Amino acid sequence: MATTTAPVQLHRSVQEFLSRPRKLLIGGQWVEAQSGKTFETYNPATGEVLAQVVEGDRAEIDQAVTAARKAFESGPWPDMSPAERGRLLWKLSDLIEQHHEELAELETLDNGKPLFFSRIVDVPTAVDVFRYMAGWATKVEGTTVPLSAPHAKYFAYTLREPVGVVGQIIPWNFPLIMAAWKLAPALAVGCTCILKPAEQTPLTALRLGELIQEAGFPDGVVNIVAGFGETAGAALASHPDVDKIAFTGSTEVGRLIANAATGNLKKVSLELGGKSPNVVFADADLNAAIPGSASAVFFNQGQICTAGSRLFVHKSIFDKVLEGVADQTKKFTVGPGMNESTNLGPLVSKEQLGRVCGYLDSGAKEGAKTIVGGHRIGNTGYFVEPTILVDVKPHMKVVREEIFGPVVTAIPFNDEDDVVRFANDTIYGLASAVWTRDIGKAHRIAAKLRAGTVWINCYNVFDPALPFGGYKQSGWGRENGHSALELYTESKSVCAQL
Ligand code: ADP
Ligand code: MG
Repeated sequence: MATTTAPVQLHRSVQEFLSRPRKLLIGGQWVEAQSGKTFETYNPATGEVLAQVVEGDRAEIDQAVTAARKAFESGPWPDMSPAERGRLLWKLSDLIEQHHEELAELETLDNGKPLFFSRIVDVPTAVDVFRYMAGWATKVEGTTVPLSAPHAKYFAYTLREPVGVVGQIIPWNFPLIMAAWKLAPALAVGCTCILKPAEQTPLTALRLGELIQEAGFPDGVVNIVAGFGETAGAALASHPDVDKIAFTGSTEVGRLIANAATGNLKKVSLELGGKSPNVVFADADLNAAIPGSASAVFFNQGQICTAGSRLFVHKSIFDKVLEGVADQTKKFTVGPGMNESTNLGPLVSKEQLGRVCGYLDSGAKEGAKTIVGGHRIGNTGYFVEPTILVDVKPHMKVVREEIFGPVVTAIPFNDEDDVVRFANDTIYGLASAVWTRDIGKAHRIAAKLRAGTVWINCYNVFDPALPFGGYKQSGWGRENGHSALELYTESKSVCAQL
């Protein structure tokens, strides 16, 4: 592993953005908290304070819900045509694109991820998501339904209507993309939103709020309340006047959200954890499968819910593939995300560092063997070596639990039945992958894997058009594509006697 050189010079508007406490967007105004409290967000590359952010709590959530309810029921938003909503979303995507570099720098400073990836993945994906959903605004259609009731004639049809006021709670691993995944479909269909970014990474969502205002969304349509999960997040999830809650984060918190939603039985969608199997067969193209398997788990420092964290390799090529993946880790340039040559950054926080190191200790204690990595790097910032564990057993914590860090467990297998059984032996079912040149086998395995996504000879391919979500304890519902519209609409049946 190499280390990087000097960081890029910060965009002037980024310096300016960080210099003052960032306020909350409620009802079209940037406001302080009633409590007067602020919290700090940190630069994970150094552990130093990056900016102060106003800390929203129950009072601010209440205000935001009131503003969102008012915007849903009166004023320009409910009367706006689908085409006008589409135009606003498209305008927002243009604004994000115009502020590409600034948003990329903010994302890297706040989350730690390499600027290289913020520039080519995070910001362009957010642009694409808003643009894709802009197109759907005019295409939310119902159906006509032929009825068979005797003695009378009827004309019946269905309408899809916005579900109403939506609470959206997002994680810290892809802050801007997650904001886009949540806001874009909800706005396309005419909902109003209260977005709560993660306390570790609130900055790009707050900057997005400024662009949302610049695009011309009416006041109260999008409200952004930064704050902590146990306070602001819990208040949003349990709020009696919120019609739907959409959450992305850990399975543990997903359960709390589902419980909190029972008070008014608000609609719930959840995108939760994973422990995704990545299966390499003996006939795979190893020139693709080896680098693909490395990036499957190490992309974003392993902090991605789809991380290919359980690598299954046919026993005949196990050593060769493992050697190859280990070699890949040596090619990473580890360092602060703001250095342009960095392609592996720090973990997001001290807490996350502690969590990942805890798993490294637990793996060692339970008898796993480390073939590369296994340690924290240095004492400044939250860097961890990309790590490969072998000699692991199915009961070990490192095999069963989501680590959310750059750690993969590698396991040999004998045949198809064997590996399908291993792959599905998990409480999760978010993603999976299979590498093989045999097209029949690829689709056979794809049918047997209990996961919301199966990648064949690729990994971590996302598209705004492709539904995404989890089986089992990886979630409820599908985001992206046409499926996302269903999350944010109610179906109404209208029946008229003729
Ligand atoms: P992590 O543990 O890695 O921080 P979480 O699932 O806890 O991941 O966080 C994802 C999001 O959920 C964040 O925005 C966080 O503030 C929020 N959150 C955490 N706890 C709760 C809770 N009890 N109720 C609502 N939201 C929460
Ligand atoms: Mg947490």
